[in-house]
Amino acid sequence: MKNTVVLISLGGTIASIPDSSGRAVAGALSGKALMEQLNIHSSGPVEVVTLYQKASNSITTDDLLQLRALCLELSQREEVAGLVVSQGTDTLEDTAYFLDTSLMLPNTAVVVTGAQRVPYVPGSDAGPNLRDAIKVAGASQARGAGTLVVFNEEVHAASTVRKTSSYQLNGFGSPGIGPVGFVDGDEVRLFKQLQRLSAITPGTQLPRVDIMPVAVGASPALLEAAVASGAEGLVIDAIGRGHVPPDWVEPLGAVMKSGVPVAIASSTFLGNLAEVYEYPGCLAEMVALGALKTSHLNARKARLRLMLALSCDMPVDQSLFS
Ligand code: ASP
Repeated sequence: MKNTVVLISLGGTIASIPDSSGRAVAGALSGKALMEQLNIHSSGPVEVVTLYQKASNSITTDDLLQLRALCLELSQREEVAGLVVSQGTDTLEDTAYFLDTSLMLPNTAVVVTGAQRVPYVPGSDAGPNLRDAIKVAGASQARGAGTLVVFNEEVHAASTVRKTSSYQLNGFGSPGIGPVGFVDGDEVRLFKQLQRLSAITPGTQLPRVDIMPVAVGASPALLEAAVASGAEGLVIDAIGRGHVPPDWVEPLGAVMKSGVPVAIASSTFLGNLAEVYEYPGCLAEMVALGALKTSHLNARKARLRLMLALSCDMPVDQSLFS
């Protein structure tokens, strides 16, 4: 019977304890201690694996590979209906998208959650979020739906979700698109499914890919520095429809000529890149030099997809984001 949910605990605020100064030590609690402290009971069996006990800024790309391998292994067990990954919220969207874009699990739900408030204060969202995540992971309609983020009674697709508040309980949203479902008490409802790009099976290591943020008058100096210091790919967090300051174009061309792929993302919350302008630093100019358009993916998510592609030596061309 497919009724078991496995909680994979990585740490974060949701698993924190106070230190003597009153500050939160993220990841101090194991998964088992977290389940006990929050007094979580579920209608089906819940197994717990403590994979890490970290704040989420310490999660590495090797950790993501290890987490993915564990998810794959657990999904092969007949009785496992779903997986819940609990972790710090700061990099939650990276983990969620990494799993989403590197795993196709048609018979298993994958849910990522965390908390904005520590578990030891009244009004913490740790218990409600973890309880809801377990409910969604056990729900048959979540199986094969890709990686979902459950937070504040909402369900979001990994490809669109972002941490939208540094402290509020409604800390995650999919700007301009909205949630794909909700949790209302015991009811789990998924009302839309977003298209997903094909999954990429990673190689043994993820190469370094750097994000270069554009702002008014930003210097292009970091582009060359990134490549000179070992970046194997760049994602430009560009403005608007995908634009950079005019003096970025030449160094970007040189970077691409040296064999380092460059992908252009938009730093706006919603909307595709589009080659609708003709002026120095416009998207069309960079595409003509070989830059890839990341479609709807923001820079953090596009970076993970580019890392995956580079890790397994698949062709890195526009099809990566189509
Ligand atoms: N700084 C914390 C972390 O990412 C935030 C959290 O867990 O909500 O680990």
